[in-house]
Amino acid sequence: MSSLLKQVEPMVYSSQISVPYTWWAGDTAGRFLKTLRDEQTIMGTRCESCNRVFVPPRKTCPACFTENETWTAVSDEGTVVSFTVARRQLAAIAQKVPVIYALIRLDGADTALLHTIAQADPDDAKIGMRVRACFSKKAGATINAISHFVPID
Ligand SMILES: [Zn+2]
Repeated sequence: MSSLLKQVEPMVYSSQISVPYTWWAGDTAGRFLKTLRDEQTIMGTRCESCNRVFVPPRKTCPACFTENETWTAVSDEGTVVSFTVARRQLAAIAQKVPVIYALIRLDGADTALLHTIAQADPDDAKIGMRVRACFSKKAGATINAISHFVPID
């Protein structure tokens, strides 16, 4: 019987599946995303114990575990704290490569937001560069209500 199994070539098919789904963003992310969509304002939560401001907002401070109940608007301008450049076009990348992905610490925030930088040469991207958010009304209540960031200065 084992010699019979060795003679059977496995049939392998390549395919893709589509798995539509919805999920509740939660109170904290929901308020953040709705404010982006409706007011083009970037909101964070402040920890009243250690005074850190989280953008994207966090419901609970990860440093001191205090529940963050204070909301504060932060600037639409910030500083690149880290970045990478995607140069290979993959299905998961909506934009045409090269795409600059950056962690951006907005003025008034203590944490960084992941987003893209456009209208910049990837070779000119650097840590410390100043950027400003550009908003899109057609994206709805998603992080893409910020369509991208652009360099300033
Ligand atoms: Zn805290």
